[in-house]
Amino acid sequence: MSEQQTKFILPESEIPTSWVNILPDLPGPPLPPLSPATGQPAGPDDLSAIFPMELIGQEMSGDRDIEIPEEVREAYKLWRPTPLIRARRLEKALDTPAHIYFKYEGTSPAGSHKPNSAVPQAYYNREAGIGKLITETGAGQWGSALSMACQMFGIECEVFMVGISYDQKPYRRAMIETWGGTVHRSPSDLTEAGRSQAEHPSGSLGIAISEAVEVAASSENANYALGSVLNHVCLHQTVIGQEAIAAMDMAGEYPDVVVGCVGGGSNFAGLIYPFIRENLENGRQTRFLGAEPTACPTLTKGVYAYDFGDTVGMTPLMPMYTLGHDFVPPPVHSGGLRYHGDAPSLCAFVKAGMVEATAIPQTAAFNAAIQFARAEGIIPGPEPAHAIRAGIEEALDAKQAGEERVILIGVSGHGHLDLAAYGAFLAGELDDLELSQDELDAAIERLPEAPAIA
Ligand SMILES: *Cc1c(COP(=O)(O)O)cnc(C)c1O
Repeated sequence: MSEQQTKFILPESEIPTSWVNILPDLPGPPLPPLSPATGQPAGPDDLSAIFPMELIGQEMSGDRDIEIPEEVREAYKLWRPTPLIRARRLEKALDTPAHIYFKYEGTSPAGSHKPNSAVPQAYYNREAGIGKLITETGAGQWGSALSMACQMFGIECEVFMVGISYDQKPYRRAMIETWGGTVHRSPSDLTEAGRSQAEHPSGSLGIAISEAVEVAASSENANYALGSVLNHVCLHQTVIGQEAIAAMDMAGEYPDVVVGCVGGGSNFAGLIYPFIRENLENGRQTRFLGAEPTACPTLTKGVYAYDFGDTVGMTPLMPMYTLGHDFVPPPVHSGGLRYHGDAPSLCAFVKAGMVEATAIPQTAAFNAAIQFARAEGIIPGPEPAHAIRAGIEEALDAKQAGEERVILIGVSGHGHLDLAAYGAFLAGELDDLELSQDELDAAIERLPEAPAIA
């Protein structure tokens, strides 16, 4: 029976009814964000100009579980539960005794895990009487997810899109507009931040964040939304891990190791936090492995320190592994993984040795993606390709050790809008962009002054 089964799909009735709040399970008390102006712990008042109270509450909550509103669960039904798939063909191709499973978030309308948080963020803002959400987007994954979510709850969506992506990646822009959102090429002339950066016409995520925050902070009826890093975003993503536990149970298995890709950390956090709670509560011994690009090696080469969330230095200081807020990673194709920091909650687990990290060169990631596509059919996004590569290495290691290791990989999205990168790789035009220690040291030297973290 289950020996033959490939897809494990839960019924809609098993969409989780609450999110797993990992804050009470952190190793040590959570370190507060610090106000950029005063260096003192940032409180709700520092955030209320741009976030609704309900999300600020989730950002700091001590409750172990937080109920998912009925309207959010209704919207989740459009694509959740997402499938858990046993990668039997990949196992065969690798000739490994390991059992490989992957949880696939590419079946959402936007093609990634990002709507898991975009939907509740739009919901809570509408409940608070907000009429418009403003955000930034790099390659367009977050902007498109938020545009869809805003449409569902009848509010407007305005997206500042990094100029070079706006020019080179028109399809995500068309998705944002199809769902009713407005897209501005950043830097724009709509904001002071944008006008001051006119000499950098290709833009950057840092400039786009500054523009979005400026508009949101100065408007009564509009708020800001962020697609990763913050506690409430990681919280919303825990639907992934909760479903994975239930679906693995259907398969009669439990993972020995869970692997995911890390950009800001939200999809990996959402996958592993419910498993971390199982480790703590039920004495499980599951390992957790985050995969990041060698071109932006935050967890493997960064320092653990207080740093700004954005390039310009407007956001609160957050305790995290960071490469320095003004570090500009080389232009690798996994746009979603090019962030200088990572979710503070995830960093706390890495610091405590409860979560491992590995860095993967982009050609190794694309090789794995192609092996995966040829075995399993699905063409993964360049971001989850890093997780797939790390998962394959686990499977080969299990073969060496002669172990039936059970491996669960988070595949956070499909790669249908990244085919130009596949084309370049297949034509032999992609290189590994390595960083020198000097470049890393220089960026880390520009960290802001803040208390050291033990
Ligand atoms: C945005 C994105 C990521 C990286 O963001 P995280 O917050 O680390 O999850 C990874 N995969 C896909 C498909 C994305 O769109």
